[in-house]
Amino acid sequence: MIRVSVIGAQGRMGASVVEAVKAADDMEVAQTIGAGDDIAAVSPANTDVAVEFTVPSASLGNVLSLVAQGVDVVVGTTGWTDGKMEQVKAALAKAPRADQAVFIAPNFAVSAVLADVFAARAAKYFTSAEVIELHHPDKVDAPSGTAIHTAQAIAKARRDAGSAPMPDGTQGEAASRGQVVDGVHVHAVRLQGLNAHEEVLLGNTGEQLVIRADSFERSSFMPGVLLAVRAIASGSHPGLSVGLDTLLDL
Ligand code: NAP
Repeated sequence: MIRVSVIGAQGRMGASVVEAVKAADDMEVAQTIGAGDDIAAVSPANTDVAVEFTVPSASLGNVLSLVAQGVDVVVGTTGWTDGKMEQVKAALAKAPRADQAVFIAPNFAVSAVLADVFAARAAKYFTSAEVIELHHPDKVDAPSGTAIHTAQAIAKARRDAGSAPMPDGTQGEAASRGQVVDGVHVHAVRLQGLNAHEEVLLGNTGEQLVIRADSFERSSFMPGVLLAVRAIASGSHPGLSVGLDTLLDL
């Protein structure tokens, strides 16, 4: 049994992780930590992997504490910067175990991660590409981090292939053409009734490919979280790893 502690266990994602771990045949819930609890309660004596879903302002501190305590961590909290990741790498270099692991995934939805990968693969075959992300109205950021990542992946694939800049219309109000991320137009829709959705439109003269990922509810993230817990518990990914795509056999 993989012993899983959940940090942020009373939050929306944390509570879902607790339920998903309880439902998994090969895992059990160890410690559940909320905002007021002492994270020092999570140790190798009771935990194989800690799953961290809290708030961006607390996540780095939690991860550094867990690493220092000798615990492997799977992180879903957003807001990670290169600078924060460097601090995690430095902590891992001094960690109690040489094979200690931290895995960070900005998006645990397998559909969204695959949409990203497929869009990047398709990009060089098309003259034009645009991204439309659609979310519930309470989402704090726009465009979504995933859409920005998709646009950057498309742009990199086009650069690597030596594609010409996209020839698409720039007429009209700039704001109505979305945010330009690395040369790729990204549009953000906020609408009651939606959850998390992304569409990548790829166009050539006379044809279009649409890649669409729909996350209808929080449960969509749980297969990705459990996949990461199993991978990290197996010891196959020591050090810092970022992105669910690194764990999928692509
Ligand atoms: P949420 O419902 O607000 O839950 C956050 C929880 O963390 C709250 O229960 C909060 O407690 C707790 N918390 C705050 N500081 C803490 C600390 N120092 N130690 C332990 N717990 C602490 O938010 P959510 O919807 O679950 O989202 C959590 C994070 O996951 C966000 O960053 C979100 O963007 C991200 N997310 C990632 C994915 C992905 O696929 N990677 C998917 C969805 C969401 P209090 O309320 O008592 O302060």
